[in-house]
Amino acid sequence: TVRTRVAPSPTGDPHVGTAYIALFNLCFARQHGGQFILRIEDTDQSRSTEASEQAILDSLRWLGLNWDEGPDVGGPHGPYRQSERAHLYREYADKLLADGHAFKCYRTAGELDELRAALKEAGENRALKPEDLELDADEQARREADGAPFVVRMRVPRDGRCEIHDLLRGPVELDWALVDAQILLKSDGMPTYHLANVVDDHLMGITHVLRGEEWLNSAPKHKLLYEYFGWDMPVLCHMPLLRNPDKSKLSKRKNPTSINFYRRMGFLPEAVVNYLGRMGWSMPDERERFSLEEMQAAFDIQRVSLGGPVFDVEKLSWLNGQWLRDLSDEQFLEQLVQWAFNRAYAMQVLPHIKQRVETFGEVVDKAGFCFAGQVTVREADFEHPKIDLETQKQWLQFYLWACEAQRDWRRDALFADAKALADALEVKIKDFLFPVFVAIAGTSASFSVVDSMELLGSDISRARLRHAIE
Ligand code: ATP
Ligand code: GLU
Repeated sequence: TVRTRVAPSPTGDPHVGTAYIALFNLCFARQHGGQFILRIEDTDQSRSTEASEQAILDSLRWLGLNWDEGPDVGGPHGPYRQSERAHLYREYADKLLADGHAFKCYRTAGELDELRAALKEAGENRALKPEDLELDADEQARREADGAPFVVRMRVPRDGRCEIHDLLRGPVELDWALVDAQILLKSDGMPTYHLANVVDDHLMGITHVLRGEEWLNSAPKHKLLYEYFGWDMPVLCHMPLLRNPDKSKLSKRKNPTSINFYRRMGFLPEAVVNYLGRMGWSMPDERERFSLEEMQAAFDIQRVSLGGPVFDVEKLSWLNGQWLRDLSDEQFLEQLVQWAFNRAYAMQVLPHIKQRVETFGEVVDKAGFCFAGQVTVREADFEHPKIDLETQKQWLQFYLWACEAQRDWRRDALFADAKALADALEVKIKDFLFPVFVAIAGTSASFSVVDSMELLGSDISRARLRHAIE
């Protein structure tokens, strides 16, 4: 039976690209009556977080892209989190070492730099190969005896061509010369993506790998690993990457890429899935609006076109409007309440508002920005007796950068960032926060802005800061 998977790395906000790849894997599996698996690729321990993993699971669930096996629901091929499978990768790396398909590499970072510089000097346009990296037997033995750190690397051919078969592209040829002696196990004993991915796809019985085009160049390494292990390779299918309207690769600097952003802005999950389904794909009858069920029923991978699909927020907004207008008034209300007018959220907002109103009649005016996507800000709102607009925008930019790096989205951490910047700029914290108030709440006369930001969450807060700078 057909088994597909999506394999996100929990290293940041849940990416719309992850949802896009999940959607196509899900449709492909369903169309063949197969299974769709979610695997967490968290072998990069320094960048992976539990919060990010949870956010990925939550946002895929919100979109209705449900999996049959995964870290939260279990399944017969678990665990589905790579950090819990480290012993397996070590076992398979040992097997490659024993069979001579991999070698221990004791080269230091400095030596690697020298080797690369030497290649460049010689005008050789190729990757570092096992022959470049291996030490003579004495030196190897000495470093081993010293207990020096080492990595495990795979053996790769020096030259010739590697042929990959891609479901959408047919045969693709890649030069072995450009493929390096990939690290499989790092010096801390953790695997790299390549080893863990191949081992898991095999052990989890994955038959078809649909993933982003960015991985096409890794396919020769994977093919070789399957050969070394004597395993059948899954069918590969590299999906075109999502693009910004200017055709560059979708990036958060130009377009919001977090699924949470779209959720907090008040998009319907059905509309987001519908729009992702139109990224490089179309219904046989070319209709623009369709549900996940309709897409599954009509799915055909050969209808994917390789031209870079543009993820355009304005088009998505238009489509969302279509979906909204189709809801009955009852449904509209229900979804609206679920979105932000729910009890749990209201209970977070009210404590901040209660102190500042004399009558209920003032609540909407004071709290409106907590129940909005963007807020409208005009230049006049930034009028300040001492600080000009340009300076304010500069501060906002500094603060936005700090916010983008901030992983702990709570009032105290957000305040500490502002305070550190105000101190560095030698300005009063009150002045520094003035434009932040305007950007976030639309006015400086509001309750504590770091409380507002904690309430609104990082996606909406950052979008408002960005919007105010533009
Ligand atoms: P980059 O670091 O390349 O700018 P990013 O930081 O925005 O990208 P990553 O953390 O690298 O995003 O990727 C998160 C997930 O989203 C990965 O599974 C990746 O394949 C996917 N992804 C990232 N960009 C795109 C894109 N333009 N189209 C489709 N999927 C993408
Ligand atoms: N962890 C990889 C990613 O986040 C998975 C790539 C693949 O599907 O092989 O993109």
